[in-house]
Formats: sequence, structure tokens, C-alpha cells
Amino acid sequence: MTSIVPIRLSLSNAYLVRGERAILVDTGSAKDGERILATLRQQGVPDRKLALIVHTHGHGDHCGSTRQLKEVTSAPTAVHHGDAEMLTSGQNRATIARNLTARLLPWFVEASFPPVRPDIVFQDELNLQPFGIAGRIVPTPGHTAGSISVVLDSGEAIVGDLLMGGYLGGILGAGRPNYPYFADDLGQLLTSVRELLALGVRRLYVGHGGPLSAERVRCWLARQASPSSTF
Ligand SMILES: [Zn+2]
Ligand SMILES: [Zn+2]
Repeated sequence: MTSIVPIRLSLSNAYLVRGERAILVDTGSAKDGERILATLRQQGVPDRKLALIVHTHGHGDHCGSTRQLKEVTSAPTAVHHGDAEMLTSGQNRATIARNLTARLLPWFVEASFPPVRPDIVFQDELNLQPFGIAGRIVPTPGHTAGSISVVLDSGEAIVGDLLMGGYLGGILGAGRPNYPYFADDLGQLLTSVRELLALGVRRLYVGHGGPLSAERVRCWLARQASPSSTF
């Protein structure tokens, strides 16, 4: 039995996934480390028992506390090859703002975060069974080249910024699927969403807002004939 514990942070969501062991998906911004550690302790996960820290992608609002958490927990850190350089340098790579709101977002402009060298850099799917979790990591590029989703055997998935839940970073209408503020490649992003649904995913946990039901994502996807026209 696998369970997902959402951790709402200053700008984004991180997720604790519990099975035979526990893994952390994303680490929020640089100031979110204590909040995450407090949640792990509340959930009865001792610092040294965390099996893995995996990143949905390399942006600073998802990797910001990795260095601190690695120091405290000694857990190995994993990132897809396509985004490894962002983690290693502590710098967001330039991407494409989808709309005016995105261009005005201050957190992305102040883009640096404490760099950390990942222990595991993968290119393809990665089985999470060795880390005590019934599920796997599936590459879902589009938001960034190295974006991945954690797909659990339960039909739940943690998809990072592949999609956003609602507006204003999820403050409004958190259950409404929407494009993320930034995307390297929108066509690839839509393909990744389709592939994820084809895997039978029923519930999508996102980096901002959410969660999203597969049903709503399917309806949203059907309306995206012309992605550039959508706010
Ligand atoms: Zn992002
Ligand atoms: Zn984000």
C-alpha cells in the first residue's frame, strides 16, 4: 500500500511517498527545508530512513532545499539527465514564458539556489522498487527536457510542472488543469500528458495547486487544439 502526503510549501508542493520505505519528491525553494523535515518527522519518517530524494525537474522552486535535506538525511538524490546541470549549477536554465503573468513572476528571475551534485542521473524509466515504492519514474518532457513523473502502481502520479492546477500558482481553482507558466516545448508537453493518461493514471499531483483528476485532464486535453491560444 503506497500513500502520498502532499507538503504545501512557499511556492510549490513537495510530496512524501510512503510504501515499504519513504521517498521525497521535490524539495521546494531554498527556505522550505525545515518545513519538509518537520513533515517527515510528523509522519514518523526518521531523517536517516529517507530512501531517496527525486526531482520532477531541475527548477529552483523544486530543488531549492535539496542540499540542506541531503546534508540532514544523507538520502541519495536523483534527477533526469536533461536537468542535471541545473541542479549541479544551482541555476535555472532559460525557458519560455507562456504569458504575461509568467513574465512578471519574481521567483523565476531570482533563479539561483544552493547547488548540489546528484547521486543518480537517469535517462530512461527508473524502477522505484529498490527504494521500497511500488512504482516507477517515467520521463515526461515538455516543461523542461529532464521533466519526469513518479507513476505509482496505485494509479496516482506526481507530475511536477507538466501541468499546473488552477490559476495564480494554484491559489484559484486548484483542481482545474492548466498549462505551467513556463515550458521549453509545448508540443512535447502535450504528448507527455497523453502518454501519462495512456498508462492509466487516475490522479495527478502537480507542483503548483492540484491535484487533478484524469477525467478533467482528458477534457482539458481535448480543448488544446491550438495550445498557443490558451491562457
Ligand atoms: Zn518548473
Ligand atoms: Zn514549479
